[in-house]
Amino acid sequence: MTNIILLGPPGAGKGTQARRISERHGLVQLSTGDMLRAAVAAGTEVGLRAKEVMERGELVSDEIVIGIISERIDAPDCEKGFILDGFPRTLAQADALDRLLAAKSKWLDGVIEIRVDDEALVARIAGRFTCAKCGEGYNDTFKRPKVDGVCDKCGGTEFSRRADDNEETLRARLLAYYKETAPLIGYYYAKGLLHSVDGMADIDAVSAEVERVLGTLAGVSG
Ligand code: ADP
Ligand code: ADP
Ligand code: ZN
Repeated sequence: MTNIILLGPPGAGKGTQARRISERHGLVQLSTGDMLRAAVAAGTEVGLRAKEVMERGELVSDEIVIGIISERIDAPDCEKGFILDGFPRTLAQADALDRLLAAKSKWLDGVIEIRVDDEALVARIAGRFTCAKCGEGYNDTFKRPKVDGVCDKCGGTEFSRRADDNEETLRARLLAYYKETAPLIGYYYAKGLLHSVDGMADIDAVSAEVERVLGTLAGVSG
């Protein structure tokens, strides 16, 4: 069982790499952003509370996301190990995660920080789109489907773009990242869990680097 965190600013490539790790190693991808968007779409109470906060590019309350993760980690599919993508995002969330894992006799094997220059994030975010059927991520500039309008993975022909993926909201999200999330890099370094990879390389090269790091962690099989 291997449990890891992917850390990095919005658009760094966390979701892209989490999906690849999941396919390769069978770990479950736990994206709080995806879970919150699903709650918004379903109109649940959590969704109603999160919708406007997300549209503004601010962080949803610690209480809400900790609750979501705590519940999700108990599911049987997480026994094989999980990849946290977009959680924790605050020191309070990181502390809560520690307590939560300890209480469930689980642990973290490593934290992979994906380092990307701020100037690169706008293009990544502005060009991001996703297959509506299977969730495969694409980019207008960096990762177009092999056949225009057709998903490489599932053949789907419908794609979606996120309401918060615009330059204006990105500024708020970046500010939230530097104010609240970036301190986690030092936090996990001090715990001896931090591994940084160069996220400026192309997707395959970043994957190779992530695989190299995973190879150094106990419990991950090829
Ligand atoms: P990105 O792919 O840009 O990193 P996410 O999909 O992870 O974005 O998150 C989208 C939005 O969902 C965030 O801007 C925030 O409002 C909310 N969100 C997701 N995860 C968390 C979290 N752990 N804590 C607080 N808010 C979160
Ligand atoms: P995050 O989950 O960190 O917000 P994503 O994985 O959704 O980031 O990636 C953001 C956008 O950038 C997507 O459109 C994705 O296809 C693209 N992308 C991801 N990794 C790279 C990379 N190494 N080089 C160029 N574009 C990338
Ligand atoms: Zn698809």
